[in-house]
Amino acid sequence: MFCPKCGDEFIPRVKECPDCNVSLIEKVPKTETNSNPEYVELVTVLVTRDMGELMIAKSLLEAEGIYCFAKGEKIQNLFGYGSLGAGYNLLVGPVQLQVADADANDARAILGKS
Ligand SMILES: [Zn+2]
Repeated sequence: MFCPKCGDEFIPRVKECPDCNVSLIEKVPKTETNSNPEYVELVTVLVTRDMGELMIAKSLLEAEGIYCFAKGEKIQNLFGYGSLGAGYNLLVGPVQLQVADADANDARAILGKS
């Protein structure tokens, strides 16, 4: 027997979940699980060629607990390379700063782009 509310399993003679006070059912309740929970839609909130602006934007977002990614034509994840070095000045082309879809509105507000 299973509780339809919390999903706990009980021996057959138990008729009610002691935690939820609901009648038990015979089958496991169907829970809506995301088939791909790791997937997060990314939204570009800033496009810049200015590394300084990019780093400021990143620090502003991270101060608010928003995780962000920088994506450029020739780099997968700028911030994945560790500490900043002089080599970053050699980057050409605009870099996109991206955040999770759920954080996009907050991020734009923080960056003054709303
Ligand atoms: Zn329960």
